[in-house]
Amino acid sequence: MTRSRWILVLVIAALAAAFFTFNLGHYFTLDYLKSQRDAIETYRSANPLLAVAVFFVVYVAVTALSLPGAAIMTLAAGAIFGLLWGTVIVSFASTIGATGAFLVTRYVLRDAVQSRYGDRLKTINAGIEKDGAFYLFTLRLVPAFPFFLINLLLGLTAMPARTFFWVSQIGMLAGTIVYVNAGTQLARLTSLKGILSPGLLGAFVLLGIFPLIARKIVDAFKARKVYMNHSKPKRFDRNLIVIGGGSAGLVTAYIAAAVKAKVTLIEKSDMGGDCLNTGCVPSKAILRTAKLLDNARRAQEFGVKSLRAEVDFAQVMERVKRVIAQVEPHDSVERYTGLGVDVIKGHAKLVDPWTVEVNGKKLTSRDIVNRRWRRTFRATHSGTEGVRLSHLRYSLGNPRATQAPGRARRRTDRLRDHASLCAARLPRHASGNAAAHPDPRGPEFSEIVRKRFVSEGVDVRVNTKAKSVVREGEQKFLVCEAGGKEARIPFDQILVAVGRAARLKGYGLEELGVKAGKTVEVNEFLQTNFPNIYACGDVAGPYQFTHTASHMAWYCAVNSLFAPLLPLRGGKFKVDYSVIPWATFTEPEVARVGLNELDAKEKKIPYEVTTFDLEELDRAIADSEAHGIVKVLTVPGKDKILGVTIAGEHAGDIIAEYVLAMRHGIGLNKILGTIHIYPTLAEMNKYAAGNWKRAHQPEGALRFLEKFHAWRRG
Ligand SMILES: Cc1cc2nc3c(=O)[nH]c(=O)nc-3n(C[C@H](O)[C@H](O)[C@H](O)COP(=O)(O)OP(=O)(O)OC[C@H]3O[C@@H](n4cnc5c(N)ncnc54)[C@H](O)[C@@H]3O)c2cc1C
Repeated sequence: MTRSRWILVLVIAALAAAFFTFNLGHYFTLDYLKSQRDAIETYRSANPLLAVAVFFVVYVAVTALSLPGAAIMTLAAGAIFGLLWGTVIVSFASTIGATGAFLVTRYVLRDAVQSRYGDRLKTINAGIEKDGAFYLFTLRLVPAFPFFLINLLLGLTAMPARTFFWVSQIGMLAGTIVYVNAGTQLARLTSLKGILSPGLLGAFVLLGIFPLIARKIVDAFKARKVYMNHSKPKRFDRNLIVIGGGSAGLVTAYIAAAVKAKVTLIEKSDMGGDCLNTGCVPSKAILRTAKLLDNARRAQEFGVKSLRAEVDFAQVMERVKRVIAQVEPHDSVERYTGLGVDVIKGHAKLVDPWTVEVNGKKLTSRDIVNRRWRRTFRATHSGTEGVRLSHLRYSLGNPRATQAPGRARRRTDRLRDHASLCAARLPRHASGNAAAHPDPRGPEFSEIVRKRFVSEGVDVRVNTKAKSVVREGEQKFLVCEAGGKEARIPFDQILVAVGRAARLKGYGLEELGVKAGKTVEVNEFLQTNFPNIYACGDVAGPYQFTHTASHMAWYCAVNSLFAPLLPLRGGKFKVDYSVIPWATFTEPEVARVGLNELDAKEKKIPYEVTTFDLEELDRAIADSEAHGIVKVLTVPGKDKILGVTIAGEHAGDIIAEYVLAMRHGIGLNKILGTIHIYPTLAEMNKYAAGNWKRAHQPEGALRFLEKFHAWRRG
């Protein structure tokens, strides 16, 4: 805390101490007020303006310092100045005093509180930003809440002082009038308790919650407004229509069918979406081949004199096809039909908020879950006309396309000139393209991956922006910009892997007016601006993974189907993104859950770091894979895990233990106390927990034990 803050705290503490030491409280009692009424009245008649000024200043001081006495002073205002002027004086004095207390708390404590509990206060701050004025109004209207506490607590939030001032002024007015009016009848008052009868208190409570109820009505009205130009069917053919048979759509339909809802799933292409057909599954199948080649290259390291590996990319793609075919039945039309889902193959189009058109037929449903695929960003750099650009999604697939083997073979020849199938393992940041923003895995993890790529012969250029393509005779060059300088990289073929964007056109979204930016806009319940149209998976973000798509799907299914059965929860569940894991399937793999250092710093969350180097892990050494690190962030002084990042063999599998721990509040002590099989890679989790424990040894107890053992030795 700064010096000026300390001085302010000391001044306030001294004033409060003086108040209690000199027993100034007895001036703020009903008896004292009654006994001095005539004297006060005489003074006021002789010095009317001065009486107002003195009263005003004392009132402001009492409320600003959060001292007891404001209620008595409000009665006094009625007794001395009458109903009208008493109300005016108290209304302003109490608001100014309350705002003073609010500002002092904010100045002295808010930064410290926000930086210590930053992330945890996020929800409160978001609530205050959205509904703060309504909450404050309610609290002010109901005199059951101690006003001084409201001043202090709201000072710690992000509520603007101006809002606090005017809402307090309006909110306290009704209570002020009641008290000032009671003060005009001072002689008849025997205690403060009688001022607010239970009936009056009840009326205040009703008045207090009225704005919140009104707000809900306005929200409901706004939501209904979007339906104004559409006529709702009297009956619905089904409970839920799911558009898209990717990860999100399949899980939504599965849950809906499992709970006996009538659900239709519409897929225009292959069931399984990106993940099965052009994403996770084919990419991992290719990675397996890449791993094999890598092992062959390292044969001598394992005592094998020579191991010749020759890639037949067409055969690689044949295997990819077989892998997809093996997984396919899990996502097939037959399986889902068997589960009770009505599956329709065709292009779905939203006609109105309750109607979807497919194959010329109109289907109606109370709720619709919208799952659209994403398209690959197209490179639009100048000079790329006539250059073969392989977009990652299309390079991995569609492996089923009949012409794939021929094209694939040509592609292989070119890629092999570089770093065999390593090209298939290039992450975005190492691909020689733009990488100006911080790496979400954390800088040291990027470095681990970068070094490995370089050692495999990949020319890695980060913070480099691809600008255009030029040709000189037969040679093609990619012109890049790095640090203000231009560089030319000769190439044979370009593989574009700059990410994907949501495809939001051509499906009725625009025509209907479903709000979208880069992705479809959804609220915390995954509803679009049409409350019966939900969106989940890649199209709604904020994470674009298969497992997050499935996670979101649960909320879509439950919120859409069960809203009327969940009245106490407001009818819905808020989607929970608190523990989201993901992996980058580079070599070595990098997996992450929760916070990393960059996030923690950005969100001002205090943390401690514990690391374990895989160079020390027996199994990793035996496998000649002893490179990488486990990095755990914990709450300072506690074993509560805030986040973990692992770089190493099978990091994506190994991190599951930490995901479970974070999800269920298990700390590092418990991970340390769990038996892990020796020698396995999973032991890295236990050793990281051990490193944390060593850094938090109970020093006092150990000193005592040392003495105890010495004493036992005699
Ligand atoms: C190369 C690559 C590798 C990946 N690897 C991983 C990984 O290892 N792990 C991971 O978690 N994620 C990975 N992903 C991401 C993952 O594939 C996506 O997050 C996931 O597929 C999202 O599922 P979804 O249901 O939201 O969308 P999609 O899988 O895109 O499914 C949408 C479906 O909707 C259909 N559709 C669209 N419009 C209509 C319409 N009008 N009518 C009917 N049907 C329609 C489409 O045909 C498609 O089948 C990878 C992605 C790519 C491209």
